[in-house]
Amino acid sequence: MDNRLKEIVDNFDRLKVGVDEPFKFHCTQCGKCCIDREDILLNPKDLFNIAKELNLTIMDAFGEYCEMYIGGDSRFPIVRLVPRGEIKRCPLLKNKKCSVHKVKPTVCALFPLGRVIKFDAKQDVIKNLTPGDINFIFTEPGCGDDSETHTVREWLGEFDIPIEDKYYLAWNNVLSEIAHFLQIAEKRFLSKRFERVFLTVFSLLYLAYDTQQEFSTQFERNVKKLTEIIKREGYKGKLLNDEE
Ligand code: SF4
Ligand code: SF4
Repeated sequence: MDNRLKEIVDNFDRLKVGVDEPFKFHCTQCGKCCIDREDILLNPKDLFNIAKELNLTIMDAFGEYCEMYIGGDSRFPIVRLVPRGEIKRCPLLKNKKCSVHKVKPTVCALFPLGRVIKFDAKQDVIKNLTPGDINFIFTEPGCGDDSETHTVREWLGEFDIPIEDKYYLAWNNVLSEIAHFLQIAEKRFLSKRFERVFLTVFSLLYLAYDTQQEFSTQFERNVKKLTEIIKREGYKGKLLNDEE
């Protein structure tokens, strides 16, 4: 567990903020949160929204601004914005402004709030998440000032992020189950077979969207396809076929 995550877990009750509870923060537009960043991760909906906003296909937006790597523990495909230059500037920062402000990645839109799901670490796979499992935390931002008072509900409303975000719950369910599948598959499949299924997971979850169509329906369709694929690969909560 990294230090930041450990700090959140250790201080969870103190950091937790209710959806209608006030917190104090005012962004002074200093721009520091958009430089020296290597950790702006995108979920599929973030990538879809950014591509649509910039009038690009998903593939072009990914190729221009992103890269994918395998999560160290999760073995899940992770997509991040690739920083530019020595100052590691976010590639979407143009003329000192966020070029996708209205649809900025969830992690940027939420800042200085964090959204977390608390679950039993002994569980292999998180299942059947409900809106009650979503928690919000407020961590000391280290920037701006406290001249404004906000609530979580109002903060999320600015970016059309629902409090009871069904997509966020569905994404976490998928992430947990597919990560579990990939962790076992990597150990049991020959490397070519693992590479094939890994790339299928990546393409279906992140890239197989038409920005002229609505996102949610395509996401549900892709998850359904993926569920069928991993079943065909022998996954039934565990992998029964040990080798090819
Ligand atoms: S996406 Fe926008 S808000 Fe987020 S780091 Fe990049 S420029 Fe800044
Ligand atoms: S969120 Fe913080 S770091 Fe980012 S522009 Fe506002 S004050 Fe600066």
